[in-house]
Amino acid sequence: MHTLIVGAGSAGCVIAARLSESGNHEVTLVESGPDYPSPQDTPEDLRDGRKNSMDAHDWRYRYRPTSQRKVTFAFPRGKVVGGSSAVNTCIALRGHPYDYDEWAARGLGEWSFAKCLPAFKRLERDLDFTNEWHGASGPIPIRRHPHGELVTWQAAFVEAAKRAGYPPTVDHNNPELPCGVGPHAMNKVGGERMSAARCYLTPAVRRRPNLHVRAQTLVRRIVFLDKRFSAIEVERDGVVETITADRLVLAAGAIGTPGILLRSGIGPRAELARLGVDRIVDSPSVARRMIDHPGAAILLAPRRPFTDYEQPVLQTMARATSIGSDHPFDLQLQPGSWLPIFGLDLPIVALMTNIGKPDGSGTLHFESADPHARPIIDARLLDHPRDVARVIDGLERLFELARQPELAELAYPIYPGRRTLSKRALLQEFLPKVTGSGYHPCGTVPMSATDIEEGAVDEGGRVRGVRGVVVGDASIMPTIPSANTNLASIMIGERVGEWLRDGMDL
Ligand SMILES: Cc1cc2nc3c(=O)[nH]c(=O)nc-3n(C[C@H](O)[C@H](O)[C@H](O)COP(=O)(O)OP(=O)(O)OC[C@H]3O[C@@H](n4cnc5c(N)ncnc54)[C@H](O)[C@@H]3O)c2cc1C
Repeated sequence: MHTLIVGAGSAGCVIAARLSESGNHEVTLVESGPDYPSPQDTPEDLRDGRKNSMDAHDWRYRYRPTSQRKVTFAFPRGKVVGGSSAVNTCIALRGHPYDYDEWAARGLGEWSFAKCLPAFKRLERDLDFTNEWHGASGPIPIRRHPHGELVTWQAAFVEAAKRAGYPPTVDHNNPELPCGVGPHAMNKVGGERMSAARCYLTPAVRRRPNLHVRAQTLVRRIVFLDKRFSAIEVERDGVVETITADRLVLAAGAIGTPGILLRSGIGPRAELARLGVDRIVDSPSVARRMIDHPGAAILLAPRRPFTDYEQPVLQTMARATSIGSDHPFDLQLQPGSWLPIFGLDLPIVALMTNIGKPDGSGTLHFESADPHARPIIDARLLDHPRDVARVIDGLERLFELARQPELAELAYPIYPGRRTLSKRALLQEFLPKVTGSGYHPCGTVPMSATDIEEGAVDEGGRVRGVRGVVVGDASIMPTIPSANTNLASIMIGERVGEWLRDGMDL
């Protein structure tokens, strides 16, 4: 059985590794970006887990954060074997049990937290904790910066949050512990990023005779024969060819996967007609909406030099329940040790908030069926009034933290300034200027238990209306988890990979 996997990102690397564990499967992993098979060959921007890689291995998407803004900003997505896991901030959070129980409550019982927990444990090798919530022998090492490693701004944040009433916690991935302030769980060891590529596509896995990695190969579209998967059309160095296989896994991420489906004739009828693509399946939910975490920040000027660009950007976090939320501890508050502002070398620090369970969603619009065209991404992060209230709440909490002596003696708010932060009406007016994406797009090819109107894929990720195609990446999330989405994407890869390896019917 030959399986093609499109996209070697957080989920795709995992699916390739799990599926090729069984000699019954021939696996070809196709990736648009380059491949660096060993850490020694890997460029510094991908290895250095202290900061993001936003440029060298990127798709160069742009997005409009809020409807109030005219300008667009960079919307980074990793274009390399490892995908966005190879460029990200290395925060390794699972979210809360309610994130997955919410999926189960929609009829997707396979995705309850209890059912996902074994995969969360299987993917990790927790270097700090050995207990029922953690795995000890998985591919991804996860650790937390101990107190002695915290840089000045991060250590002060922890003390300020404790003073402000946030209880200390040692492990944000243990649902039995109090939610409060403590070190981030991170997939970063010795400052190096532990991407899905590095941890799952190890030299031993790559030596498997049944696993083939085809990098620098752009997937243009899927070819169907009588609504059954037949081949993919790919492009490498300007040469177009087809690759045939028995079945296909799409793991091209929340922007890439819906694009491939639309170009292949699977999407809303009117969209396919507009794009001039022959319709295979009228699938209304493809690219109907894009969910993301709204984020906002206060920038602060240091009173004396205490930070530099060699420091890790993030090490700690506090969690709180946002105003009127049904989801406890949905709000993240975290200090940024430095911030690149407009490419200038300014020694600015930040306090940042992320809204874990937004009510609003954005849109993803493909203007043409050209596989090289970039979609128009309108995140609409402040379209929903409840999200506006949550972002204001987050910023007010950050301002409260900034006023605690531990942080106040180090830096003072400059953007927004104190006056704006003190008056809610002014702050609300200012919001569009400081609100942006958490870089966690998902839900663009959602799963549903019921029908194609609700979800393009079923509980197993199988694409409705055709045979032989499954989606296994952040696209299928029916709602957004309250935490950063890398571990959830890897967990999806673990589960889809396991199901395919063990004979899921397509
Ligand atoms: C800058 C940044 C920082 C982030 N920080 C964190 C963090 O600290 N913690 C966290 O939990 N999450 C973080 N995230 C989010 C997290 O990394 C993603 O949610 C996760 O990687 C998504 O996994 P995925 O498999 O769905 O997609 P991806 O990992 O993006 O993989 C998709 C892959 O498909 C390939 N591809 C796409 N289209 C095609 C095509 N047509 N042909 C061939 N290949 C294609 C891409 O090149 C890519 O390799 C961050 C993301 C970014 C961009």
